[in-house]
Amino acid sequence: MQDFEVKAYPEMWHELNMDVERFDKARQMLGGAYTKIFLSQANRPQKMAYFDEMISEIFGGRVKELMQAKKEGRPVVGTFCVYIPEEIVVAANGICVGLCGGSPGSIPDAEKILPRNICPMVKSAFGFKAGRICPYFQVVDFVYGETTCDAKKKTWEILDRLVPTYVMEIPQMKKERDRTLWLEEVKDFKAKIEAVSGKTISSEQLAEAIKILNGKRQALQRLTKLRAANPAPISGKDALLIEQIAFYDEPVRFAAKVNELCDELDARAAKGEGILPKSALRVMVSGTPMALPNWKIHNLVESAGAVIVNEESCIGTRYFKDLITEGSLDMEKQLAALTDRYMRIDCSCFTPNDERVTQVLKEYKDSAAQGIIHYSLQFCHTYNIEEIKIREACQREGIPYLSIESDYSPDDVGQLQTRIEAFLEQVEG
Ligand code: SF4
Ligand code: SF4
Repeated sequence: MQDFEVKAYPEMWHELNMDVERFDKARQMLGGAYTKIFLSQANRPQKMAYFDEMISEIFGGRVKELMQAKKEGRPVVGTFCVYIPEEIVVAANGICVGLCGGSPGSIPDAEKILPRNICPMVKSAFGFKAGRICPYFQVVDFVYGETTCDAKKKTWEILDRLVPTYVMEIPQMKKERDRTLWLEEVKDFKAKIEAVSGKTISSEQLAEAIKILNGKRQALQRLTKLRAANPAPISGKDALLIEQIAFYDEPVRFAAKVNELCDELDARAAKGEGILPKSALRVMVSGTPMALPNWKIHNLVESAGAVIVNEESCIGTRYFKDLITEGSLDMEKQLAALTDRYMRIDCSCFTPNDERVTQVLKEYKDSAAQGIIHYSLQFCHTYNIEEIKIREACQREGIPYLSIESDYSPDDVGQLQTRIEAFLEQVEG
């Protein structure tokens, strides 16, 4: 196993007013977990080296880039949801960084203030700011929340006491009048970004940003398609890691590195090489996002000898399945095309949301999976209830199916392992 560490930058963390002593312990734990979960895999693609480096520098190199951008007067915006249009931030020469929390370590900080019985992703993210244990949270100019679920929209009011927090109203339905409201909200978002950067966004800049983000999404689409090969050329853990890094890396560099990896995977697939033998069971995961460093389900499934071949999730295909029509230099038309693209995202916060059921079945077929694990974070009511429809669809189609509701604590790992192993036996038939 290679020597690996998540690098320490205590001086910079002091500059960012972090709780350095506590954060450094979390850094060491992350390095240990990464070594065990990722670097122990045999036969990994060589081009994963870049993504290993991104984790090694997660609390250093990329943060420095963000600090530098701020010094240059570029907006640095924290977000929590794939509904926030990052094209507008990129058009203003700014940086968008996802702040969703996937770690149990920050939850006690949140629970000093927030109720305990809300989604762990919200608590984890809030706790990172409350405990001053996330350099990204410390560096952003402001955060942009949204009104998707109740836990988030009410947390923004409290988070605003710690960091300036603006909220985009995302409707709950997708009727014509909802589209009208949405478009207005997109325009308000653009106005806010322009006010912070002190510059008006031109249609040329927006066109370029749309192209950049389309390029990033296309690279991730390519990776997803390659995972359909049997044997799978890359593990689900590594693919999930890349999907997580997508939320904080520089988009042009990231797309280039994903494409380099895809070239290697293409060559592997052509030679019939895989991360595991052809006989490994293929599982698709569907449901709530798995924010960094939430690798729990992937680790359990792949430790049991199966491979995960798709994530139907916001940290997964829901983030990149749709592109924005390019070519227009008319700001009104560009913003309309952008709004239409974002309205196609099928989050369970919408009602009705039957297009997600169709999408899950499509991705199951496209990824050549043999079973679906539905994953809901505890207290996420919308995904937990929508799970009924996904389960019914799988029953109708004869798809082996397992539903898991979990949080970030290690307490249920033993029980989940037993359930996953039993499920894999069922898939094997
Ligand atoms: S699951 Fe819904 S609320 Fe959460 S990031 Fe995705 S779109 Fe946003
Ligand atoms: S997982 Fe569910 S409850 Fe948690 S933030 Fe996303 S939509 Fe809200």
